Amino acid sequence: MMVHRSGKQGRSGKQGRSGRKAGRQRQRQEGPGGTRCADRQRKARNFAVAKFATMYATHYRTNTCGELREADAGKEVTLAGWMHRSRDLGGMTFVDLRDRFGITQLAFNMSSEAELCGRARKLGREFAVQATGVVQVRESRNKELATGAIELVVTKMEVLNTSALPPFTMEDETDGGEELRMKYRYLDLRRAPLRKSLELRAKTVRAVREYLDGQGFWEIETPNLIKSTPEGARDFLVPSRMQPGSFYALPQSPQILKQLLMMGGMDRYYQIVKCYRDEDFRGDRQPEFSQIDCEMAFVGQDDVLDMFEGMTRHVFQRVLDYNLPPMQRLPYAEAIARYGSDKPDLRFGAEIHALNEAFAGTDFAVFKQVLESGGSSAQESGGSSAQESGGSSALQGPGLIAGIVAKGCAEYSRKQLDELTDFVKAPHRGAGGLVYVKWAADGSIKSSVDKFFSADQLREVATGMGAKPGDLLLLVAAKTGITRKALGDLRLELARRENWIKPGDWSVLWIVDFPLFEKDPDTGEAIFVHHPFCSPHPEDLAYFDSDPLRCRALTYDMVMNGNEIVSGSIRIHQPEVQNRVFDVLGFSQAQKQEQFGFLLDALKFGAPPHGGCAFGLDRWVMLMAGQDTIRDVIAFPKNNAGRDLMMDAPAIVDQKQLDELSIAVKLKR
Ligand code: ASP
Repeated sequence: MMVHRSGKQGRSGKQGRSGRKAGRQRQRQEGPGGTRCADRQRKARNFAVAKFATMYATHYRTNTCGELREADAGKEVTLAGWMHRSRDLGGMTFVDLRDRFGITQLAFNMSSEAELCGRARKLGREFAVQATGVVQVRESRNKELATGAIELVVTKMEVLNTSALPPFTMEDETDGGEELRMKYRYLDLRRAPLRKSLELRAKTVRAVREYLDGQGFWEIETPNLIKSTPEGARDFLVPSRMQPGSFYALPQSPQILKQLLMMGGMDRYYQIVKCYRDEDFRGDRQPEFSQIDCEMAFVGQDDVLDMFEGMTRHVFQRVLDYNLPPMQRLPYAEAIARYGSDKPDLRFGAEIHALNEAFAGTDFAVFKQVLESGGSSAQESGGSSAQESGGSSALQGPGLIAGIVAKGCAEYSRKQLDELTDFVKAPHRGAGGLVYVKWAADGSIKSSVDKFFSADQLREVATGMGAKPGDLLLLVAAKTGITRKALGDLRLELARRENWIKPGDWSVLWIVDFPLFEKDPDTGEAIFVHHPFCSPHPEDLAYFDSDPLRCRALTYDMVMNGNEIVSGSIRIHQPEVQNRVFDVLGFSQAQKQEQFGFLLDALKFGAPPHGGCAFGLDRWVMLMAGQDTIRDVIAFPKNNAGRDLMMDAPAIVDQKQLDELSIAVKLKR
């Protein structure tokens, strides 16, 4: 069944041009009268249809399954979509027809259209169907559906394709497990939650382009087959057939290339780009992910922060209709001290209070030891990186007694307190224990350290921390990094348990002044915190040679609801400084030349001061879509083991292909 659209609607420029050409040809063949006559006939035949056609009208439909309303009653329309579900009620059969835009109820009447109704009863789930009929107001409206006021009384129906029985239902709450849904991702994509996430993603990208284009950025592509760029992860390698034994690396990010674009005078660049990092699958990661990669020339840090704060606000406005307030710029050291994290979630309080002074001179052995020597604990550092555990050595200090206030939690049971104690004692947090002080609503104090401190002493500490009767204090005493990490994680855990975070709340802020280097926990060597092209903080150049770990960088992150969404920096633009950073990182002259010779060369030719950042697009969209994993906002994601379950990749390749690449596979047994 073919549907004619009205004149201009639904045609792209390209189709329009070829359409005009075809028209001219026809005119030559038929003569002018013939074409006009055919047009008139077509218009007459499809008058009812063409009149109501929308921009989505195509060869197969006049409207979508999401757009008809009460005001359309009486119109003849054609829809195309999938058979979502059907119901037989005596003389009537109802079919929900679904497409990307929504669901419309089709009604088939056994008494007036027996043959048609019989065919409707045979439609299977996910059959692709085209139906023509007249829009009618429903007797009982379905409030769940946008089209719930109407139904289509079908007069013509064609099955465009049958479907095998789908392996799971296309409902919002489907019966399919994640692995099954990833194997049949094209079916999973038909479900509303995924469709909505991808719609939100498309809107985000559109708003990003709109903003950056308006600010004079150029979208410039950079190659995928390159030489390794250091972002701190393992590279994916691509063997070269033409140069046997040599490999390209897939970009971990276009970092060096965007810097070279600035050196090439492009001034403002962006790219929505795939990045590849061969990391172990800790947490919610994908081996390939998308960044909104940006760079600007002749800028200082505030120029970059202002520009991308503006972009973030624009996107929130466009996509969520939400006005983000101006963003706080919190120094890294302060974030670590107050929230125990370089990605603090500020949607709730429970800040960390340092209590060394409050407990100075105590005889309580655990506290005393921490005050005197930094204390002992299950392990040396509390996290996988210095950032997580409390920062560079300059920020660690010897030992720290600190605590947080759990508002309204004075009634916690023994069991609840034991759970929280186990939480801070988990090996990756490493605290030795948890001290609690309950300040009951009646003013009385009960604590795990009653033997060592009087109620008045503890009440004074609690008051100093801003607590009130009814609150619970939770204290950790350990090496500074461990105390901060344990309490930082604990405040998040309490927020989760106590529902401190209100749905729809946003916390978006900048963290600035990161350390330039940190100590490799395994080797003790200085390693870069962000990447080796970040400019040292001009105020800290004095320590650069004597105490590099004390040196801050012009590096910044944007943190959204406790997730790092953006990271970036002002880059080094003088070759001497770049050389000194490579020296601190332990690169030999030959290594520098071999790996970064082209960059060091480029810096010699009047490189402009420049800086930029990259947004993690997947995670940003995940947060705006209210999803828990980035897999839910990626059309074709990999599973936790990095496999594409639908295509079954990675896969073993033919011996012939390996031979062409001069590669022999040696599997470890
Ligand atoms: N290339 C950096 C990254 O991928 C971002 C930047 O510094 O612009 O994290």
